[in-house]
Amino acid sequence: MVTSRLLEAFLACPVKCHLLSNGEVPFGTEYSAWAAAREESYRRESFRKLISQETGPDIASTEPALWKHESWQFAVGKTVRTESWEAEIALIQRITQAGAPSRFVPIRFAAKNRLTASEKTMAAFEALSIAKALGTKIGAGKIVHGEKHATFSVNVAALSRALHRKVSLVASLLSATSPPDTVLNRHCPECGFYDRCRKTAVDKDDLSLFSSLTDKERTRYRGKGIFTVSQLAYTFRPRRRSKRLAAKPERYVSQQE
Ligand code: SF4
Repeated sequence: MVTSRLLEAFLACPVKCHLLSNGEVPFGTEYSAWAAAREESYRRESFRKLISQETGPDIASTEPALWKHESWQFAVGKTVRTESWEAEIALIQRITQAGAPSRFVPIRFAAKNRLTASEKTMAAFEALSIAKALGTKIGAGKIVHGEKHATFSVNVAALSRALHRKVSLVASLLSATSPPDTVLNRHCPECGFYDRCRKTAVDKDDLSLFSSLTDKERTRYRGKGIFTVSQLAYTFRPRRRSKRLAAKPERYVSQQE
C-alpha cells in the first residue's frame, strides 16, 4: 500500500521512505518540530477562513462511495483508499453542479509562499485517489499556500503519468530486500532521522558529507571509483603557479611558516 506519508517521504528522500515503511520512528529535531507546528497553525487558520464558523465542518461518511448521496460542503481529515493507494486528505470540498454529479476537490495547505514540485505531486495523488475510489473522472487538486492564502489549482491530468511512475518507484522500494544507500541531502536538517543518517555517512566517510557536491558530481565521482571523502582528498592537486608569479610569495601562507 502506497500511503500519503510514504510517498511524501519518498519525494524528500528514499531512505526516509524505507525507514518509515519499516516502522522506524523519527526522533525529530528542533527544526522539524517548529516546521510541523507552523504547518499545523497555518492549516487551522486556513480552515477558519474557508469553513463557516456557524456551522463548522460537515460530517461526511468514512466510506467515499456514500459521498455522492450526501450534502456536505467541506469534510475534514478523510482517508481515501483504493486497492494499493491510501491518501490522507486534510480537507475535501464538495462542489455541486446543476444537472451533473458533484465534484470532490482535495485541498492541501502549505505555509510556504513558494510551492515545490512535491506539493503539486501530493495534490495530484490526493485527487487521483478520489477519482479511483469514486470511479469518477480525474478532477482538480487545490493547494492553499503562503501568507496571502493564495489558491493554486493543480493540473492533475498533466501530472498523472509522472505520479504513477513515482508511485511504482515507491512500490518497488517497499518490496526491495536491501535498503537504499544513505545519501545526505537538502531535506536532512528537517528530518527526524538526521542523527542516525549522519552517523552512517560519517562511518562510511560518504561523499554526501560534502553538502556543496551536487548529485551529478557525486555520481560522476562514483563512476570514477571515488566513494569517500578521503579518496576524493587524494585527487587534490595544488594549482600550478605561472612562471610570472614564481618569484612572488604565496598569498595565503600562515604566519608560523
Ligand atoms: S536524514 Fe537525510 S538521508 Fe536520512 S532519512 Fe532523513 S532525509 Fe534521508
